Amino acid sequence: MSSEIRHDWSREELLALFDLPFPELLFRAAAVHRAHFDPAQVQVSTLLSVKTGGCPEDCGYCPQAQRYQTGVDATKLMDAADVLEKARQAKAAGASRFCMGAAWRSPKDRDIPKVAEMIAGVKALGLETCATLGMLSPGQAHALRDAGLDYYNHNLDTAPEFYGDVIQTRQYQDRLDTLEHVRDAGLKTCCGGIVGMGETREQRAGLLQALANLPAHPDSVPINRLVQVAGTPLAGTAELDPFEFVRMIAVARIAMPRSMVRLSAGREAMSDELQALCFTAGANSIFYGEKLLTTGNPDVARDQALFARLGLQPMPLQCDHDHGIGSGAGGTVHADITAPAPACGRAA
Ligand code: SF4
Repeated sequence: MSSEIRHDWSREELLALFDLPFPELLFRAAAVHRAHFDPAQVQVSTLLSVKTGGCPEDCGYCPQAQRYQTGVDATKLMDAADVLEKARQAKAAGASRFCMGAAWRSPKDRDIPKVAEMIAGVKALGLETCATLGMLSPGQAHALRDAGLDYYNHNLDTAPEFYGDVIQTRQYQDRLDTLEHVRDAGLKTCCGGIVGMGETREQRAGLLQALANLPAHPDSVPINRLVQVAGTPLAGTAELDPFEFVRMIAVARIAMPRSMVRLSAGREAMSDELQALCFTAGANSIFYGEKLLTTGNPDVARDQALFARLGLQPMPLQCDHDHGIGSGAGGTVHADITAPAPACGRAA
């Protein structure tokens, strides 16, 4: 299996990978994984919600949309001092990267100085910085970069043709535009999507096609499994076959060989065996902590036990692997700070 970096994947090629016999697909994905990473190492990240709930968007999976009755209380933007205290705790626990998420359609220009203060403060602690704040204008992306932001998370969510079934308050092109602004500002990108929303296999291939054919592969590719939250339109969706989730991970690994493929939202509901299959298929990043935004995440002890049982190790703080995301980009976050945080589909 070639592990060259391509940006011209066809839907048919990706579907043909999905259609492979399961052991053959895992073998090919594992070969690509080994060409770029130590398969025994898994990057561990954490996420702090700096502003939860009350979002005006209508993402059908999201408990933070204010129009759905999900029991998530809206909060105001945290004070920078409180964010920095969490960041200090993260650093003390071994963190190298600190991700900040806010449930906004897009930040208002007046919000940017507040977020910039957080970013600058976190950066001054010696941590890598990451944010997920919704859609950004070019000027906002540059302002965040100037404040010291390293990474920006903005997911494509699903295939272009299925997007309107899930979200009506924005267009696919809006997402692509923000990703362009983020890249143009010199920020690294974290971009993936959600499966199990009722999409077809072809549409899952379509999401990976959209991601892999971006001008640059995202540095991190979160693959979320829908967490069904009562009160959201997607609650009650037929569960995705777990083996199909593993296929998604494997095809993501093959299509984006140097990206960190991350198990994100939905991991709490996965068995240890399913997670082990995902690591075998090329997943090499997880979120670590009790909460992933507003939905649960496996507790730290379970993760540590799973790593021990599987012989896995957190990826070292400074990663020398040639995965195209720069020095130290494989930074590990061992933070077991687990502030209440939103499980925004885009945040992962
Ligand atoms: S996924 Fe993000 S943009 Fe969509 S409703 Fe939730 S917080 Fe808002």
